[in-house]
Order: sequence, then structure tokens, then C-alpha cells
Amino acid sequence: MTNIFIIVVLLVVFFFIIQKYVIKHDDTRDYPYQSKGPLLRGQESAFYNALRSAVGEHAVVFAKVNMASVITPKSIKNKKQLFVASNRIARSYFDYVICDPRTLEPRVIVELDNGQPLTKGKAERQKLLMHVCKSANLPLIGASVKHSYQVGRLRRLLAAHIDLIESDKEIRFCKKCGSPMVIKTANQGEFKGRRFFTCSRQPNCTYTENYNVVFDTEDE
Ligand SMILES: [Zn+2]
Repeated sequence: MTNIFIIVVLLVVFFFIIQKYVIKHDDTRDYPYQSKGPLLRGQESAFYNALRSAVGEHAVVFAKVNMASVITPKSIKNKKQLFVASNRIARSYFDYVICDPRTLEPRVIVELDNGQPLTKGKAERQKLLMHVCKSANLPLIGASVKHSYQVGRLRRLLAAHIDLIESDKEIRFCKKCGSPMVIKTANQGEFKGRRFFTCSRQPNCTYTENYNVVFDTEDE
């Protein structure tokens, strides 16, 4: 009886050794692959199209971008900590990254909430997203599936972070007196450097308007 037991144990050990050292050599062969089809499906692709309409020529939208392509650990000297920090973002991706059309520099991160209940995995992902975006100083917008049908609202959400207006094409009239408005740049205060519309009849009329607020009612 003991002999049989020993033989079984030996066979098991032998089997594992074969698996580990002999079969592994076969891993150099070329395996077959197949395409997984469209990169985005259903709601994801409807939302992608809405984002593209919202930004127009003013930005480029990328979908499912690996986090490690956008951000990298900052000033971590310890090798082990660097490894952990890199690993944390290596297998995660951003749903949508809105980039500057010329430099392709990421400007805004957009996370699509599919409306599913909050599971442990979903909560962890949101926590990671919020942390990395805050840490890397990247604006994060959480949008729901219903935004796919509200391009105007998406545009307003994005307008706080990217210029969606071509200044030479944008003509506005004062909501108080009806005179044409002019674009000025704030040279002091909290909004220094930010552009805004002001009534051309200043100082007789003091009406001003945020430059980036896009009034768009056509699709709502
Ligand atoms: Zn006015």
C-alpha cells in the first residue's frame, strides 16, 4: 500500500516537472488569433459619436486608452514602490481621452457610467480614476449613457476645459442691450488669462458672458 502511494506521489511530481520544464519550451510557437470585432459597441460607440459631435474640430477623442499611456508615476525613487505604482495603472484604461487636436496632449478624461449598480469592482475603479486624475491634474468628467443623446449638454461639460469656440466665427449679441459683444482677456483676479465676452457699449453697458459657455439648444 505504501509503495503505491509513493509511486503516485512520484508520478505527480514527475508530471509537474514535465509541465514546468518540458512543455514550456513549446511556448515559442506562433499561436493563432482572431479579431474581436468593433472596438466599441452599443452604448460605448453611441457615446463616442456624441463626444465627437460635441468637440467637433476642437479636440480629438480617443477611446479605451491604457492608463499607462497617459500617466506615469511621479518622483518615486524606491524600486518596489515604483513597481507597485506602475502595476496599479498598467491594466486599467480610461474610457475616453479628449486631446488637443494639434499636440494630442490629453486635456480631459471622460468616464462613461453605464448605469449598472455600484459593485465592488466598479467602486474600486472609480476610486482609482478619481485619485490618478486628481494627482496628475487631469480634469475628469463622469457622464452617463443618457448624455449620448444630449450633445449640447456634453459640450457645456467639456467647455470648462477646452476651447470649443472659434473666436472669428463666434458672434454674440448683448442680452441686455442687443449690441455686438467683443472678446477680452481678464488681466487680473481669479480668472486671469481667461477670455470672456463683454458688451461693446462698455462702460455704458456692463453685461459680460463666459467665453466658453456654449448656448446650444438645437439638440435638447
Ligand atoms: Zn450691452
